[in-house]
Amino acid sequence: MTTTEAATAPLQFLRQRNLQAKSDAEREAILADPGFGQHFTDHMVDLCWSEKGGWHRPRVRPYGPLSIDPAAAVLHYAQEIFEGLKAYRHADGSVWTFRAEQNALRLQRSARRLALPELPVAHFLQSIEEILTIDEAWVPGAPETSLYLRPFMWAKEAFLGVRPARKVEYTLIASPAGAYFTGGVEPVSIWLSSSYSRAGEGGMGAAKTGGNYAASLLPQQEAYANGCSQVLFLDALEHRYVEELGGMNVFLVYGDGRLVTPATSGTILEGITRDSIIQLAKDRGLAVEERQVSLDEWREGVESGAITEVFACGTAAVVTPIAELKGADFSIVNPAVGSDSLTLSLREELTGIQYGRVEDRHGWMTKVTG
Ligand SMILES: *Cc1c(COP(=O)(O)O)cnc(C)c1O
Repeated sequence: MTTTEAATAPLQFLRQRNLQAKSDAEREAILADPGFGQHFTDHMVDLCWSEKGGWHRPRVRPYGPLSIDPAAAVLHYAQEIFEGLKAYRHADGSVWTFRAEQNALRLQRSARRLALPELPVAHFLQSIEEILTIDEAWVPGAPETSLYLRPFMWAKEAFLGVRPARKVEYTLIASPAGAYFTGGVEPVSIWLSSSYSRAGEGGMGAAKTGGNYAASLLPQQEAYANGCSQVLFLDALEHRYVEELGGMNVFLVYGDGRLVTPATSGTILEGITRDSIIQLAKDRGLAVEERQVSLDEWREGVESGAITEVFACGTAAVVTPIAELKGADFSIVNPAVGSDSLTLSLREELTGIQYGRVEDRHGWMTKVTG
């Protein structure tokens, strides 16, 4: 935290309760089978920013449509960033977040790239506390379920000129999330995009911004058409090096105990799950290499048997084994992931920490309620 951060005074949120909040029975029905991103809690949090007034008007209010001018810059020039994190209910009923300050810092880095104002870490954490306090009952308790939190910041100023907006809004919504894998962890097939890139040198690849997702939708469609659930992108310059999936980072596991993952040097999103997996692997005494990873290395490693596992990771699905990488004219079938695999063992350890079943050695968890 910088000195200015430390000096950030706590916000006084204006709290407006939702008089049309879901009944207990309605909420329980949703929580019994929430899916992902389909249902939202009774409230949302927002903060305004203006060039003159800085961050102001902190509110908790009923979840509902935003009022937005048709000329708002976000609708025309996509000046928008977001975050994604989860709140977990532990066995004793308490509710916890996982490394939320890392999401706050990443939102600041994204803000810098998109010429948006930086939200102080303390304001970010306070907004999370506010939503989890008022909508605490929306945090599901079944195994592997969570309340997914979606903070986002968008250019609100009504002006069609191209320059950073002078009026911005930060909004936080929350959505209950079911277990990602219901019948046990299922390996996925992924599609190698040969015609499209996700990010280039000097672009926005390291920022969590809607524009990167917009760029991934067409290749994602191509992936579906080829029986794959995700798309893998290579570097935009040489089309040789593995970068990441549309919304997840990638790891190769060598039989000799090494974990290899593409280095995040500007075109790859710095996943907090990625960073946590690296730490947990190092804790086990495993060697972790963050460097360039070519498609050839992947292919040859699988062919020779040196690479024994490949997985993707991110907040939503945590850790997902990659069964196969398909392209227009090739396929790499990775080894099957056994129950004794490093992939599943790291997944178990990470979710164990998040749900309070495994000791939190690194101080990653923060108790918010209960
Ligand atoms: C959010 C995101 C990830 C994963 O980040 P986590 O912090 O682990 O959830 C990976 N790649 C992209 C492009 C993302 O937007």
